[in-house]
Amino acid sequence: MAEVAVVGAGPAGSLSARLLAASGREVVVLEEHRAAGAPVHCAGIVTDDVIEMTGVRPDILSTVCGADVVFPDGRTLSIDRQSPIAYAIDRKVLDERMADAAAQYGAVIRWGDHCTSYSVDAQGVTLNTNSGQIRSEMMVGADGQGSLIAVSLGDNAPREVLRGAQADVRRRSEHPDRMVLRMGSATSPGFFSWEVPMGDHTRIGVCVGSQYDMPAAYLKKVMDVAGYADAEVMERYGGKIPIGGRRTTFSDRLLLIGDAAGQVKAVSGGGLYPICKAAPILRDVVNEAFEKKMFSSAQFALYERGWKRELDGCIRGGIRLRKMYTRLSDDGVNAMGAALDSPEAKAILSAIDLDDPTNVVGPLLGLRGVKSTVVKVLLKAII
Ligand SMILES: Cc1cc2nc3c(=O)[nH]c(=O)nc-3n(C[C@H](O)[C@H](O)[C@H](O)COP(=O)(O)OP(=O)(O)OC[C@H]3O[C@@H](n4cnc5c(N)ncnc54)[C@H](O)[C@@H]3O)c2cc1C
Repeated sequence: MAEVAVVGAGPAGSLSARLLAASGREVVVLEEHRAAGAPVHCAGIVTDDVIEMTGVRPDILSTVCGADVVFPDGRTLSIDRQSPIAYAIDRKVLDERMADAAAQYGAVIRWGDHCTSYSVDAQGVTLNTNSGQIRSEMMVGADGQGSLIAVSLGDNAPREVLRGAQADVRRRSEHPDRMVLRMGSATSPGFFSWEVPMGDHTRIGVCVGSQYDMPAAYLKKVMDVAGYADAEVMERYGGKIPIGGRRTTFSDRLLLIGDAAGQVKAVSGGGLYPICKAAPILRDVVNEAFEKKMFSSAQFALYERGWKRELDGCIRGGIRLRKMYTRLSDDGVNAMGAALDSPEAKAILSAIDLDDPTNVVGPLLGLRGVKSTVVKVLLKAII
């Protein structure tokens, strides 16, 4: 019997497995695909802190030092900084290296093993897979946004799901160190779109709320508006982002992490930073559980308390910002753009921390004109 069974060898499963195996636990990982990282569902934008926390060196395709934020009326706020804001990485390679790292520390990864169901009893957990049964003392659900383990806990679907579409086009970006973010109901209702330099090609993507048309239709609009209508598409990707959290992330002998736990930044949809922050907390709570021989909900509640404390700004603060953003009409978004179009505001925005973008909210609200515009625009949206 393994000590810990992890379902899913995405970043959340592989990092949890590596940290647990490195601290001496016997870990088995079930991954339904035969290899890591494919299909890709990610834009691949990460900060240097995330790269460090993954514990591996991904392939960096470009370094992003600036962004052009385009508002629905065409106003563009350009944000620049001397140091990198983020990196565009090869996400498939990241997943492969994170899985390899887990295996190097002794985690056994069973590729092509799909977990179909599980049951918990007084002695442990039984996982049913396409190749038989596995027993373990406890399990970690790292099975992504469509997590069957999360929903098995009852009333535990993500509060909101964004749908995304991306295309890699065979054209070098004119600005190899800048990304473009567009807002507006015509191209990306309820979220935003992006154009990211990826070295010899460009990645164009969009996410929309689930109440809107299929994201592929919006991706076409973004490509038209951004001047990529005739560009050769090398590859297309889709994907969903669970946003707003889930009801619970633990139960007896069970913890959830990553998209399965709804650990996603609500402003940007990024999931890698929350995973890197949650995984060490998961390891510590699991190790304590083994020391105490206590695998009850009461013990595992410590994990949820821990990660919520650690990620409060970027998840709960982000959810509050997102609620406001989704209430705004295009006119409201344009008014915000006008209020932020000053050297002082751009200086604050250039210090944005992509891992917790709420870090700029306080300083921005301190600027004359910004707070009154926010209040005016929000009042208009509510009334
Ligand atoms: C369009 C888009 C763009 C994004 N861009 C970014 C970005 O730029 N930066 C960022 O930080 N985040 C981004 N994200 C979010 C990020 O991709 C996710 O948060 C991240 O992949 C979550 O990792 P995970 O390990 O929890 O889940 P996943 O990466 O989904 O891994 C889950 C794994 O579990 C396996 N699995 C599922 N069910 C089972 C089962 N029953 N049995 C066995 N195996 C199973 C799957 O095959 C998969 O390998 C983006 C997401 C989308 C959709």
